Amino acid sequence: MTFTDFNLHPAIQESVAHQGYEKPSPIQEAMIPVLMSGRDAIGQARTGTGKTAAFALPMLHRIAQTDERRFIQALVLAPTRELATQVSAAIYTYGKNIDVRTLPITGGQPYPKQIKRLRQGVDVVVATPGRLVDLLNQGAVDLSQAHTVVIDEADEMFSMGFADDLDAIFDHLPADRQTALLSATMAPGVKKLAQKRLNNPEVISVTDGDRTASDVAQKGYMVYHRDKLAALVRLIETEDVTSALAFVKTRAGAAEVASLLSDLG
Ligand code: AMP
Repeated sequence: MTFTDFNLHPAIQESVAHQGYEKPSPIQEAMIPVLMSGRDAIGQARTGTGKTAAFALPMLHRIAQTDERRFIQALVLAPTRELATQVSAAIYTYGKNIDVRTLPITGGQPYPKQIKRLRQGVDVVVATPGRLVDLLNQGAVDLSQAHTVVIDEADEMFSMGFADDLDAIFDHLPADRQTALLSATMAPGVKKLAQKRLNNPEVISVTDGDRTASDVAQKGYMVYHRDKLAALVRLIETEDVTSALAFVKTRAGAAEVASLLSDLG
């Protein structure tokens, strides 16, 4: 299968070619035709699978066919500022040829600037739930004409406590819309949201293909939080580590680990 098989708008096709993507990834292969058909969809896929393009390309295809612009046609909800910024940048890139205006709406940014951009008119909003609810309450965002809605990393939405915000946002959306939900896991909260807000969705799962390669050994150690750093240091001392990546939950935690390791030489 190639990207030409999807019958995407030529301008969107062109941006995909420009990105150098040769072949659709499994989630793209499964999800793009479903979304192009107008159906709701649930995609179980992790970051790195190409899930952003899987929902963004059909969304842009639909926008490309509209003459009128500068009202919110599509909304993407993302759990973190980082993801919202990344998704917004991807949509901007894929939509460059069709003059799409994309606005990330996230916390930590000044309100006046976001409100000004909204007044000037945007086509796609990529938002974290909390800030979007604030702006909805201020009457600064009009979602009544959004024909496409995407909830990205839905499981993270719930672990970050956005359930009520999501409910509030959905109450502002038109009933006649296409909704897509992406999630790494189908946790109970995600299932419930899908049941309540999606209309007869096609369920697509591509989790089989992204298992760790068979020649990679995985080990887990259960340690108390206070012992974690000591355990990490012990591991580095005893294992034959020449290079390593350490994933840490928070920015402060990353700084702490980096500083300790560097202090220990
Ligand atoms: P995502 O899972 O959406 O975060 O995408 C992961 C990365 O894969 C991004 O850097 C994309 O630019 C890239 N990507 C998405 N689709 C394709 C494709 N069909 N071929 C090659 N790279 C891709």
